[in-house]
Amino acid sequence: MKLVLYHLYPDLLDLYGDRGNVLTLKARCRWRNIDLEVRQVSLGDDLSLEEADILFLGGGSDREQNILGRDLSSKAGDLKQAVEEGLVVLAICGGYQLFGQYYETADGKKIPGLGIIDLYTVAGRKRMIGNVIAQVTDFDQNKAQLEDKVKLNTLVGFENHSGKTYLGPGIKPLAKIVKGYGNNGEDGLEGVRYKNVWGTYLHGPLLPKNPHLADEIIRAALKRRGYDFELAELDDSLEIKAHSAIVGRFG
Ligand code: GLN
Repeated sequence: MKLVLYHLYPDLLDLYGDRGNVLTLKARCRWRNIDLEVRQVSLGDDLSLEEADILFLGGGSDREQNILGRDLSSKAGDLKQAVEEGLVVLAICGGYQLFGQYYETADGKKIPGLGIIDLYTVAGRKRMIGNVIAQVTDFDQNKAQLEDKVKLNTLVGFENHSGKTYLGPGIKPLAKIVKGYGNNGEDGLEGVRYKNVWGTYLHGPLLPKNPHLADEIIRAALKRRGYDFELAELDDSLEIKAHSAIVGRFG
């Protein structure tokens, strides 16, 4: 069985170990005999998404977001269509912000986003830095089973951003903040869940300490390709320990 992951702008968007999310997805697939091929796509590269199962974008500073803005807008139409058709996407911080309508920088410049999800981001005056614990509001699939087996319904990670993201009406967050700032430090929300897109401010990298989310993403990609079977259970005792340690320390 094979899946293909497109890593978008790996050379520009890779903060705080974001690449570790790709490694985690690859490892968790490999342990189940699923071959996850990783293809890197950057500035000027053609992005044809017919073969893509998962798209990953990491975080970047305002500077990098500015650099790739124009390139991204040339890819926006294809991306939007693919997302509407169920492409699985994990987008972190700067990458997450790019899915929205725009990012307004501190000097008032609006960097247009992909316009795929009704959200927008405004640069704030203060940096929101620190550990985050968030309660997951909605695991779409096998929620009861996940909670039962893994007993994790929180996400943990690290945030460092000044952008404040606001979700449009009817757009669902990924989670509710228990500790930290999340989307904007005001409304208690963290990230976004839209179709098969997961957007979040959590670095760390996110997935090694949140194996339940990694599997949710793999499951969504398999389902979209018509593979309907239960993922083999893995020994996640170390991952769960790491997760629980953070909840215990900061929760
Ligand atoms: N430029 C964004 C901000 O500071 C994203 C930062 C990040 O990806 N960590 O809000």
